[in-house]
Amino acid sequence: MKDKVRVRYAPSPTGYPHMGNIRSALFNWLFARHHGGSFIVRIEDTDRARLVEGATESILDSLKWLGMDWDEGPQAGGDYGPYFQSERKEFYRQAAEQLVSQGKAYYCYCTPKRLEEMRAEQTKNKLPPGYDKHCRELSGKDATICQTDGAGRVIRFKSPLEGKTSFTDLIRDEVTFENAKLDDFVILKSDGFPTYHLASIIDDNLMKISHVLRAEEWISSTPKHIQLYEAMGYDKPQFAHLPMLLGADRSKLSKRHGAVSLTDYRQQGYLPEAILNFLALLGWALDDKTEFFSQKELVKHFSLERVNKTAAIFNVEKLEWMNGVYIRNLKPDDLAARLIPVLERDLPATVKRPLDKDYVVRIAPLVQERIKTLNDVTELTDFLFLDKLDYGTDMLIGKKMDAAITRGALEAAQDKIEASVDFSEEGLENTLRPLAEELGLKAGQLFGALRGAFTGRKVTPPLFGIMLVLGKETCLKRIRTAINILG
Ligand code: GLU
Repeated sequence: MKDKVRVRYAPSPTGYPHMGNIRSALFNWLFARHHGGSFIVRIEDTDRARLVEGATESILDSLKWLGMDWDEGPQAGGDYGPYFQSERKEFYRQAAEQLVSQGKAYYCYCTPKRLEEMRAEQTKNKLPPGYDKHCRELSGKDATICQTDGAGRVIRFKSPLEGKTSFTDLIRDEVTFENAKLDDFVILKSDGFPTYHLASIIDDNLMKISHVLRAEEWISSTPKHIQLYEAMGYDKPQFAHLPMLLGADRSKLSKRHGAVSLTDYRQQGYLPEAILNFLALLGWALDDKTEFFSQKELVKHFSLERVNKTAAIFNVEKLEWMNGVYIRNLKPDDLAARLIPVLERDLPATVKRPLDKDYVVRIAPLVQERIKTLNDVTELTDFLFLDKLDYGTDMLIGKKMDAAITRGALEAAQDKIEASVDFSEEGLENTLRPLAEELGLKAGQLFGALRGAFTGRKVTPPLFGIMLVLGKETCLKRIRTAINILG
């Protein structure tokens, strides 16, 4: 093993960051930080047809948001750059040509049409798919014909035809593949860009990567990489394939299971620390009971020995629950700071921005126990920001009440509130509860009417808490409006 831990997160910028992909980033990051090693970000942008504009920025932004810093890579620089594979074409071309000159790889001139016919033939005869090695031993006349015909040549690797390729996976122990199944895979495409296989091993070697930690779906690529390492005469890194992520129905996690991109969860109001904690437990555990870990604790405890072989279930309800717990543990100040951008995004345009931080700090405790995501705040509190509420008499008139009784109750409450000097939670309790009794109403009946008047809603945070935030003047104004609505 190379003595210094150097791991990489190597995303392809083909879309928004998938939670599974971010989980791979996290395990690499934790492994690097735990061992005092380096965490490197490398952008694998060689598949030009699948590039998505803005994807790289969104991936990097996600890492920052989750608090995963990188030692080398885009923006950070480093001694082994450039860190975009599209800027490293020369390394790959040289390597591919070296392999051709050593007889370990060959030019293939097969046209897309020929390959298509070959595949159709294989399907028809129920043969395993793969290149039929047509160009592998081309020589003399045949080669010349092909070369003049074949403008779009590629370079293929000459995989061994027999034997086995084995490696020790740090999570799965000994893994063995039959060489006959490796296929003569393409390493350099006709557009001069490398395939993933070639680019990956060239860069892992040049960037001195000590451990390759990646998702299980790449395990079948590893024997190809091992063959390439050996053909190039490079030292191999150690490999660890992280367990697959499944949805609740035990099929591979995909869009069918709901949101899978980190960006979606971020927009839905999940906290980065909750997501980090949740992702860390997808395939890793310290023991059979501890669920909550700060970032620091994760760094301290993380080890590959505790990564499972078996697939992990992505349970959105658990994420939601964890998020709620994290929200409840925030200081009101901190919670308010996180709620403000959500409120500013979601409240109607008539509400003046920027919001007053002190005002939101007073609101935060009212929702802290009630929200599972930050986004839940707007519906629970919008009436605290609006000047005019839009509601009908049904919001005011409760069970076993009518307009006249409700009106009378609101007028009585108005008088009491106006007269009371103690506008505190206790003061309101001591004024309004006896009033209900005086009026021959249940407390719930009076409070329901008041709730409707102050909020235009039936379900809200606690009434007295709301009244304190609104203040005496606004409360009285809203009661007057409600009385008018009742007519
Ligand atoms: N670019 C590959 C991906 O998007 C990297 C796989 C690997 O880590 O080797 O996942």
